[in-house]
Amino acid sequence: MGHCKRRGYCCQDILLAESPDTLRTAYEFWKKTKSIDPNFSEIYLIYPMLVFKFEKSDEDLPYHYRCKHFTRDENGVPACSIHPIRPGMCRDFPYYEGVDHLDRSGPLSPYEGCGYNDPD
Ligand code: SF4
Repeated sequence: MGHCKRRGYCCQDILLAESPDTLRTAYEFWKKTKSIDPNFSEIYLIYPMLVFKFEKSDEDLPYHYRCKHFTRDENGVPACSIHPIRPGMCRDFPYYEGVDHLDRSGPLSPYEGCGYNDPD
């Protein structure tokens, strides 16, 4: 079982099924609510962190984003500028407990070269 080797692929190419318009609409709706609905996806809450890159309509998860908090440390190694308070989806990556529809027969991470796909 591999582990994170700080290669930064996941932070520079976040794959979401939601379009920028959907994320923005849901985020604006969430901002007007009085309390956080536990059933409301965290994906919508991280909308301000995301920079839309491009869409690939022939992929299952066609929307590609980059995180504004991705950075590099003093040695040039990929890093997260908000690491202690990063969202749950970042802490949990690439494990998606409770998401039953994902195909678990392939590589653990969708990113080629990701440390989680390494044999160690
Ligand atoms: S919040 Fe940090 S860990 Fe999460 S995608 Fe952004 S840079 Fe990566």
